[in-house]
Amino acid sequence: MTLLDVRDLHVDYGGIRAVKGVSFQVGMGELVCLIGANGAGKSSTLRGLSGLVAARGMVNYAGRELTGSPAFERVRAGLVLVPEGRGIFPMLSVDENLSVGAYARSDNAIEADRERVFSLFPRLAERRRQAGGTLSGGEQQMLAIGRALMSRPQLLLLDEPSMGLAPIVVQTIFAVIRQVNAEGVAVLLVEQNARAALQLASRAYVMDSGAITLSGDAKTLLGDAKVRAAYLGEA
Ligand code: ATP
Repeated sequence: MTLLDVRDLHVDYGGIRAVKGVSFQVGMGELVCLIGANGAGKSSTLRGLSGLVAARGMVNYAGRELTGSPAFERVRAGLVLVPEGRGIFPMLSVDENLSVGAYARSDNAIEADRERVFSLFPRLAERRRQAGGTLSGGEQQMLAIGRALMSRPQLLLLDEPSMGLAPIVVQTIFAVIRQVNAEGVAVLLVEQNARAALQLASRAYVMDSGAITLSGDAKTLLGDAKVRAAYLGEA
């Protein structure tokens, strides 16, 4: 069943047309990746979906038309972005950053979810009273994902979670993404690290200059000669 149905999405920054009419879908519980070169419009697509920038087109999520609805309403509906650069609050502690993720909730499972985040990322538990800004890059990425999980997403939009991290840390982050997805959370993953993303996802879309130029089964794209040459660094 389709969870997110995007049709003809456009994002402009003044005269710059960053996203030029993309259409794609994410199924319930599916892990889909969006790959492409720098400046292809991947981040802008995620920002448009999360309501952080104005977008034109149709965004149907869980049977609801979201185009034009404010960002907080999308979070409340379960559509949650983990932005590029993480966007954690450097002066707040790990615990406080996680609480920010649960700000729209009033149920009594918040503490259980916090413990769940700590079991996914034991390093965060060890540093729970430490200020976010003092964490390493990898720990900040873990915190950004943990904070998003605190809002109980149904669809997680991840913008370059591997950026600037050592391979071993990337493995930890990707293992958690896989686990969260296995528990039923759908994921739309934007990555420069195309190989790792294609290995993790079931389906993929390739973006180039604001448009989707290729799509299909992730394993098939991993073996595609054009993809290998353009995005996997193979001649
Ligand atoms: P990257 O991996 O570098 O983030 P991307 O595929 O995510 O690349 P976007 O960041 O969405 O691409 O950028 C798409 C285009 O929009 C680029 O030409 C970029 O320079 C431009 N752009 C992005 N953000 C802004 C902004 N705030 N103002 C003006 N132009 C922007």
